[in-house]
Amino acid sequence: MSRFTKALPKSKVCRTCGHRKPISTKTGINFWKNSSNEDGLRDECKDCFYEWRNANNEKLARAARRKGVVADAKAQRLLLVYVLEVA
Ligand SMILES: [Zn+2]
Repeated sequence: MSRFTKALPKSKVCRTCGHRKPISTKTGINFWKNSSNEDGLRDECKDCFYEWRNANNEKLARAARRKGVVADAKAQRLLLVYVLEVA
């Protein structure tokens, strides 16, 4: 639980796909956190973020390798989630 939890609105319009989505559902969240945003959430939904991530997988993998991260898909995914959640 973060200090943003109480202030979070219930839904948000994704800037990329334009759909209004609930921020959290029973199965998880639709928007990653981004503390540099006013509402503490990223502007794009998780689906759009994954699309972007998949489109930029090579770039992210190279960046991860430069930082000495194991070039393993699962490790990268975990790292990315970690980076996004604490950012
Ligand atoms: Zn979206």
